[in-house]
Amino acid sequence: MTISLSQRTAVRPAPMNKDQAADSIHPNSESMSVSLPPNARQQLFNGGEVGPIEQIRVSTERIVRLNGILFDLDPQNLRGGPLLPALSPDPESFFEQCVQRWLANHPLLQHLEVRASGTGLHAILWLDPPVEFADDAERTRWCSIVKVVQAVLPTDPLAPGITATTRALGSVNTKNGQEVRRIKEGHSASPADVIALQEEMCASPFRTLFQVLTGAERMSPCPFCDQETLVALDHVGKCYGCGKVTFERLCSELFQSAKSMEG
Ligand SMILES: [Zn+2]
Repeated sequence: MTISLSQRTAVRPAPMNKDQAADSIHPNSESMSVSLPPNARQQLFNGGEVGPIEQIRVSTERIVRLNGILFDLDPQNLRGGPLLPALSPDPESFFEQCVQRWLANHPLLQHLEVRASGTGLHAILWLDPPVEFADDAERTRWCSIVKVVQAVLPTDPLAPGITATTRALGSVNTKNGQEVRRIKEGHSASPADVIALQEEMCASPFRTLFQVLTGAERMSPCPFCDQETLVALDHVGKCYGCGKVTFERLCSELFQSAKSMEG
């Protein structure tokens, strides 16, 4: 698949009514044709405001509505290997060679919008209808759901959950002067779909993540010992060479060491 880097249509969307807006563009899309400040961020919660991070970020307890879930995918944090072949530090190549395959391996992940954020990718699962938090308990429940769901892709485990903001389309990332572009259209999912994915992750974390990464439930040779065959069970992988491989070991295999991730 070829991605047109010059495709500008996503940057200046036509005005949409409120119902359409929930699909993939924030509700204030008309204002996006006005020039955005550098590093402009977009809320995935409350009113979906766009602006400097200092103005639009809010603490967890001020979130009353969740419009979308962010998967922050940074190739710099990941470690190439048998589970992440063809890992590229270039965001477009990373999308074409890794992320696009992962999204194809799970029906719900095919709904994600993907933006090239400058140095990495922001994948967003838009919710329609948004989740309105009736009380603190409901918000707390969704904090947990979002953290579980984010682990279906190799996102930084320390990345924010419901408080996460994305980079606004058309804004410039001053880290490298790149404009934020949409490289894959999204389709909204229902809150029930998200809860189903959370339940799937809780019931079979190893198998679900392994399936997303590899498109299979076994790999030969085993990616951990480079011999034998690894079979993905619900909670662990099994290999005659390695014995049991835990979900934590699977995750740690994907990332650079914690120290090098801090930058
Ligand atoms: Zn093994």
